[in-house]
Amino acid sequence: MLDIKIQKTEQKRQKPDQTKLGFGNYYTDHMFLMNYSQEKGWHDARIVPYQNLSLDPATMVFHYAQELFEGMKAYKAADGRTLLFRPMKNIERMNNTAKRLCIPQINPEDALEAIKALVKVDDEWIPTEPDTSLYIRPFIIATDAHLGVHPSHTYLFIIILSPVGSYYPEGINPVKIYIEREYVRAVKGGTGFAKVGGNYAASLIGQEKAARLGYAQSLWLDGIERKYIDEVGAMNVFFVIDGTVVTPALDEGNILPGVTRASCIEMLKSWGMKVEERKLSVDEIVAAHKAGKLNEAFGSGTAAVISPIGELSNDGEKMILNEGKIGPIAQKLYDNLTGIQWGKIADPFGWSVEIK
Ligand SMILES: *Cc1c(COP(=O)(O)O)cnc(C)c1O
Repeated sequence: MLDIKIQKTEQKRQKPDQTKLGFGNYYTDHMFLMNYSQEKGWHDARIVPYQNLSLDPATMVFHYAQELFEGMKAYKAADGRTLLFRPMKNIERMNNTAKRLCIPQINPEDALEAIKALVKVDDEWIPTEPDTSLYIRPFIIATDAHLGVHPSHTYLFIIILSPVGSYYPEGINPVKIYIEREYVRAVKGGTGFAKVGGNYAASLIGQEKAARLGYAQSLWLDGIERKYIDEVGAMNVFFVIDGTVVTPALDEGNILPGVTRASCIEMLKSWGMKVEERKLSVDEIVAAHKAGKLNEAFGSGTAAVISPIGELSNDGEKMILNEGKIGPIAQKLYDNLTGIQWGKIADPFGWSVEIK
């Protein structure tokens, strides 16, 4: 059992209009903190009023980006239950990321307890409008005030919460995607499989470029041959080719192992569909499209759940997918995943975890 000291705020914040939440615009009344030192390990778990941090300008995270994060959601079911979706998958991934960045592991049970305790304290912040949720952002930063390059000896584990709106207030609109050939997001041996801020910093330029050219996001290719598909924006990506669902395999270490990705694969297989995790080249996509066998494509991630791709731009050539509309497989995955997440349908997989 994690001993969490709880200091409640005396000045509650005003709650935002639930129909105008957007993503990451508002934060709740409290935050969770826990320190790490070599002498004490992880210690001093506490929930305190949401507030600024005070850090020495030499703090290592500012200079060498020894930082990781996670992203998950709490959902309010119609019957009042508060549900998490496969939280241990996120915690397991957090520890895998930590290993890559030389950050000490956190006991998974303690991390889950911290998340549950904070969500419980700020339960009234979980929005109840259709398709809204409470985004949970755990993160760890290196806190030694030192400019020498080495793993920090001290860390801070923080959890903040943000009520977020429906990702598709006007219904699901497939997006236009630009196949990026200049910049890469990750390479074999790098940090592609890890959820680290540094990956995002390096990908912003691709996002900016795509936006400038009139696209919603970049489709990232592998960093070595620039041939194989990695991810789309900050989502995993699926293609349906002649009825078979294909997604890039995780074994090269340059794909982020998404919880939504894993859930899509398990769900598709439970429906008896053929799913392949393997290398997938742009050439194969182009050939499938030319042959009329590229049925649909979509991204997967916690924020949007499923994001259909309506158009792909490859070196100036445009490929329109499924007439620019959401495909039946993307729609079925979206309905079933969100159905389980909001407790609207039965959960035969045992993915939902109730916070009591
Ligand atoms: C978080 C993330 C994903 C999606 O992971 P989920 O667990 O499904 O939210 C995919 N790609 C990148 C780069 C990510 O950071």
